[in-house]
Amino acid sequence: MAPGHRHGSVPPVVLLLLVATVLGSLCLSLTASPEAQKRYNFRFVRHARDAPLVSYYNYIVVGGGTAGCPLAATLSERSRVLLLERGGLPYGNRNVSSEYHFADALADTSPRSPAQRFVSEDGVVNARARVLGGGSCLNAGFYTRASSGYVRAAGWDPRLVNASYRWVERELVFRPDVPRWQCALREGLLQAGVTPDNGYTLEHVQGTKIGGTIFDRAGRRHTAADFLRRAYPRRLTVFLRATVSQILFRRTGTQTGQLRTVPPKERTPEAMRRLDRRAFRGGFILEKILGPMSTGHVALRSADPDANPAVTFNYFRDPRDVERCVRGIETIERVVRSRAFARFTYANVTAMEAAVLGRRAGHLPVNLLPRRATDTRPLQQYCRETVMTIWHYHGGCHVGAVVDQDYRVLGVRGLRVVDSSTFKYSPGTNPQATVMMLGRYMGLKIQKERWTRNDETH
Ligand SMILES: Cc1cc2nc3c(=O)[nH]c(=O)nc-3n(C[C@H](O)[C@H](O)[C@H](O)COP(=O)(O)OP(=O)(O)OC[C@H]3O[C@@H](n4cnc5c(N)ncnc54)[C@H](O)[C@@H]3O)c2cc1C
Repeated sequence: MAPGHRHGSVPPVVLLLLVATVLGSLCLSLTASPEAQKRYNFRFVRHARDAPLVSYYNYIVVGGGTAGCPLAATLSERSRVLLLERGGLPYGNRNVSSEYHFADALADTSPRSPAQRFVSEDGVVNARARVLGGGSCLNAGFYTRASSGYVRAAGWDPRLVNASYRWVERELVFRPDVPRWQCALREGLLQAGVTPDNGYTLEHVQGTKIGGTIFDRAGRRHTAADFLRRAYPRRLTVFLRATVSQILFRRTGTQTGQLRTVPPKERTPEAMRRLDRRAFRGGFILEKILGPMSTGHVALRSADPDANPAVTFNYFRDPRDVERCVRGIETIERVVRSRAFARFTYANVTAMEAAVLGRRAGHLPVNLLPRRATDTRPLQQYCRETVMTIWHYHGGCHVGAVVDQDYRVLGVRGLRVVDSSTFKYSPGTNPQATVMMLGRYMGLKIQKERWTRNDETH
């Protein structure tokens, strides 16, 4: 699913520092804080059961996710837009809105959970968003732009890209507080040779940096749903609990098919119970293999939109990825042994011992892989046994293979795909900035095309 990343000179291994669905017939749930109610009083948001039998719009956006919300908000500036989202509101759900409940949202396996759990065919535990705001309501909040090389390779207009990033950042990007142990980690990275020190930046650059976050200083999450504050309210209608199961094509345009509200099925509840929340408490250091050489595949099991697809990641199938992981772990070992990090380590325990002990105690239940007897190559074994997703999914719907450069589905009029599935490589250190940017960017482009066309015909 994620073939090699070959843009720019950023190294392939990136170290990351981790730091409601109750809806009435309209607006916010009663559990939302008064502040949230005031701030996000979206009168155009309704439950799907209130949908009229037939209605007409210039654009219908399926999925109010990380790309869908900025896209719908932008299109509503000049056109009538319908946004259909299968989940509920993010506001009033503590698991979404508080930084400290990151793991709780992922551990909630109820049918109304904002996260729909699934396990890949090769045993890696995953989640799909099911809430207005999509993955931005579940994610760890890291915000970083794509590199200029990535923007060039995508064939995007760099000026419009920059303007779109700025639009996104005005709404929901914050400079994080950096607590003491994270400062020590940053210093440790520099002492371990991960240079230069880039300070605070939203750019994707080589070295050590403090990136942006969508959590504010009070630990409150700001999500893509917040972009709807920028929408033109009279031209936007949002239906929640609106699972689109069909799109009917006509010669003259597009109309939505049936709306369903069937609760999604959990694929492997037993596996889900094994996710230990403690794994996500406190601080931990993640290593990401940026653009792995190993490739996998994704296939639909059925036409039911709630059914999880069959995904095989094949992480570490290519031995070069194992070696890259080992190099990353060696860097982390140097960081942990650095002077800067000294007061966060125990005198008698090496970094590797601590990591292996944690693994044996089962504190990283991020995959269902069987544990083997100790290997002669412990770092390689460590990489394989602690493999997890970092949820930066992309590649299910490539530009060139499924959609054209303008994100139109090949051979189909009036249908585009605008989301992270169109990316061939995961952009930046983390993708959400670019997913949001793409929603805004394509919204502006589509508007421009439509109004230029109309000007010409009038
Ligand atoms: C746990 C986790 C941690 C992450 N951490 C980070 C991070 O720190 N930084 C970062 O940059 N990225 C992170 N990501 C990745 C990032 O959040 C995703 O790349 C991004 O949210 C994908 O956006 P999208 O618009 O493509 O899809 P989504 O945001 O998932 O949107 C899809 C939307 O469509 C809806 N939908 C789907 N099917 C239907 C249907 N049939 N009918 C109606 N609605 C439908 C879904 O409910 C969902 O709301 C993380 C992701 C997860 C899950």
